[in-house]
Amino acid sequence: MDFVKTSRTKIHLLYDNHGRQLRYLRLGVTERCNLRCFYCMPEEGLNFSHKSQILSFEEMKRLTSILAKMGINKVRITGGEPFVRKNIMDLIEDLTHIEGIDSVNITTNGTNLIEHLPRLKAIGIDAINLSLDCLDKDRFFKITRRDEYDQVIASFHALMESGISTKVNMVVMQEHNIDDIIPMSELTLTHNVSVRFIEEMPFNGGGKLFTPIKWNAKQIIEHVKTKYPATVRLNDHESSTSHNYQLPDAKGSIGVIPAYTRTICTACDRIRLTPKGELKTCLYDSGVFSFRDFIRKGATDLEIEDQFRKLFSNRAKDGFEAQQREKTNSNSFESMATIGG
Ligand code: SAM
Ligand code: SF4
Repeated sequence: MDFVKTSRTKIHLLYDNHGRQLRYLRLGVTERCNLRCFYCMPEEGLNFSHKSQILSFEEMKRLTSILAKMGINKVRITGGEPFVRKNIMDLIEDLTHIEGIDSVNITTNGTNLIEHLPRLKAIGIDAINLSLDCLDKDRFFKITRRDEYDQVIASFHALMESGISTKVNMVVMQEHNIDDIIPMSELTLTHNVSVRFIEEMPFNGGGKLFTPIKWNAKQIIEHVKTKYPATVRLNDHESSTSHNYQLPDAKGSIGVIPAYTRTICTACDRIRLTPKGELKTCLYDSGVFSFRDFIRKGATDLEIEDQFRKLFSNRAKDGFEAQQREKTNSNSFESMATIGG
């Protein structure tokens, strides 16, 4: 057993059955969204869960506090679109006060970000991931099915001015945005930003037929190097999900996330809680336990802690094994918005 002494008390860290320590909670706060990115959900949206089925803020804070006592020190707020959930700023602020949580970050589509930036800065949010799949208004509309390009670009510039560390996520898709790979990379020449190219995954809520990707992480980097052959490889953080590079004389960096080819699982330190309170020990499992139901049946904090340990003692070693364990392939049709991508 591995204990760490903090100023507070001794904590009993959470490990999986492959010796990986869990440190990072991805918390899906809503399934709902004001965009309809075609790789994430159908045009008509999803069969969104009733509010009563979604974890309350109190339930989210309780689960986060229990995990913080097990060594989880970083939380990412995601969804759905976090800023469409009413009073989300109150949850974000409360999470920053949980003992043991050192950083709270957010992944957002940037449509409603600007109005929240002053408070986000004031409460010490120091990193935001902005999703932006292209640098062209028409293509943006085709991908997201909404006319929000100008707001998202305004959010990008506001983030650059805010001093908040920013990563831009772009899902790479053969038919839609290959021409944007170079311009998006070039954002890093003039801005201190990390632009990350994500392999498309099958989690689109049944909105489209998923065919094996044509652009994997390796091909994306080779493509960048056709224009910038002096692009250099950077050292990645040990639990980084991206392989990172830098264009010559760039202020920022670029990265590729092999989310579909899954060469990043060996160092995975992530816990996913979906908006409905399902635990996913891997992005590619379809949920292994309902902490919502467990809490609502009256589970104590100790029982919840034991249950996390039990579930992580049977974790798949990688995304391929997790997918194989599923009896059906139905999780292929789940949306990233209900997973908490
Ligand atoms: N709505 C917020 C946003 O778009 O940033 C947060 C939730 S969204 C599900 C989180 C991330 O998942 C986004 O960067 C999005 O591009 C990515 N994503 C969604 N569906 C995906 C898919 N099928 N394959 C790869 N990435 C996907
Ligand atoms: Fe909404 Fe994010 Fe999914 Fe796009 S990727 S539909 S912004 S949840």
